[in-house]
Amino acid sequence: MDRYERVPIAEENREERIEKFALITQPYTLEEAVLEGQRCLDCAMPYCVQGCPITQDCRGYNVLIGLRDFDGAARLTLRDNPLSTVLCKTCYHFCEDDCIMSGRGVPIAIRQLKRAALDFGKSDLMYVPSKPKSVRIAVVGAGPTGLMAAWDLGIRGYSVTVFESEPFVGGQINTIPRYHLETDDLDTDLARWRNLDITFVGGKRAGADYTPKSLLAEGYEAVLVSVGASKARELGIPGEHLPGVYHALPFLLAINKGPQGLFGRTNRHVVVIGAGDVALDAARSARRLSGGGDVSLVYRRGPEDMKATEEEKEGGEIEGIRYVFFRAPKAILGTEHVEGLVVERTEHGPPDAKGRRSLVVVPNSEETIPCDMIVVAVGEVADVDGFEPDYDFKFASMGWPEGKTEEWMTDVEGVFATGGRSVVHAMGAGGRAAQAIEEYLAKKHGRTPEPRPDPFGGPTPPPPRPPGYGGPTWTP
Ligand SMILES: Cc1cc2nc3c(=O)[nH]c(=O)nc-3n(C[C@H](O)[C@H](O)[C@H](O)COP(=O)(O)OP(=O)(O)OC[C@H]3O[C@@H](n4cnc5c(N)ncnc54)[C@H](O)[C@@H]3O)c2cc1C
Repeated sequence: MDRYERVPIAEENREERIEKFALITQPYTLEEAVLEGQRCLDCAMPYCVQGCPITQDCRGYNVLIGLRDFDGAARLTLRDNPLSTVLCKTCYHFCEDDCIMSGRGVPIAIRQLKRAALDFGKSDLMYVPSKPKSVRIAVVGAGPTGLMAAWDLGIRGYSVTVFESEPFVGGQINTIPRYHLETDDLDTDLARWRNLDITFVGGKRAGADYTPKSLLAEGYEAVLVSVGASKARELGIPGEHLPGVYHALPFLLAINKGPQGLFGRTNRHVVVIGAGDVALDAARSARRLSGGGDVSLVYRRGPEDMKATEEEKEGGEIEGIRYVFFRAPKAILGTEHVEGLVVERTEHGPPDAKGRRSLVVVPNSEETIPCDMIVVAVGEVADVDGFEPDYDFKFASMGWPEGKTEEWMTDVEGVFATGGRSVVHAMGAGGRAAQAIEEYLAKKHGRTPEPRPDPFGGPTPPPPRPPGYGGPTWTP
């Protein structure tokens, strides 16, 4: 086989896909994984590692798999990545975008090899905390940002309490459809955390039951606010609150956590408003839920401006989503239930101040798209109602609150805030917040800050990370 060709990744049968919520991407066999691992060039400067927000040593596990050392590959994967089971199916694989192989062929299937490392290597390892530090830290929000920070701080020997408004942990991971991620995957990851001093407190909302400042007053020496952006951004058009209109996050959460009959299954005409990954997930889920019903995705711009990944767009096309471009929602029709979406045609106008093509509405171009369900997927904002104004958060363009300093400290000493636009970005942010908290507490207690130790209690901490990547970390 040509080194520049990827070992093909099997997929769920295209015709049967929309009948069920079953994983689309199938795992490699052991021999397929070895062949794909052997394609890795073991670059001296691994752009794949540099491109990863948690600088996962993917080059290392690719090579170990090529050498048939699956146990070593699993350990290396889990060393850097405490949510590996989730990410081996859902990561947007920025590493693959940067793989040097893309210059001449197809990048190494790094996400798929992570999955093989866990499938064929010893992956039921347990994380080991360092000597207890007797310092309590609070994390507010149990999405991937908060989870990564809690894990990192737990490994360092801190006592961490994670407060979460929902009765379950994982944040938006819980909304990822089951054709991408299986029900137990997050639990599989969290089972490795059992020996860490991390306590989850569910059903407690910051801003109502406590605030970051009240947690400091209770004796937590640092607080990380990692509440993400979970409140639906509204369209602000008439009819938005009619029965039959859902916002994407509660819609997807209800599919994963609730009875699937909730939305009815037959002959639906569903309209999804939006064009990002969440909109595609909503459309593809609606297609499955409605037993192959008619699903249209309405977007006010053209295909070239869609924010969804190629993988999602292609998935939508294969599964029969109808794309309706250059239509802006104007009103939702219905009396007791949604009956249609009124849209206006749009077209490109002159460039705006940032050079982005502006949009103008075409006069007298109203039309109605009949439908009996609408899912709004136009983004989210953070829910920080009831927080004191003292933190003076800045808000990321995708909505989550952040501290203003480089280390994400807010205007209240000891309170940090951050988040991320994908699971792995959120984890990268959580890991950096943990290091910032370590530096803050080390200074406060008059000691030298330490790097994150080996999470399996090994003698040597992981090497320094890019920039200035420290070389291979595996022993062939
Ligand atoms: C449908 C969907 C599909 C996605 N698919 C993928 C994918 O395939 N791959 C990928 O990499 N990324 C994906 N993402 C993006 C990814 O899930 C997010 O980027 C990531 O979860 C953000 O992490 P976070 O921890 O910053 O925020 P969140 O995941 O939003 O977690 C924040 C947590 O804080 C809690 N919280 C909020 N307010 C409060 C409060 N006041 N008090 C206490 N707790 C609070 C929330 O309940 C939540 O548990 C997807 C997102 C969605 C919505």
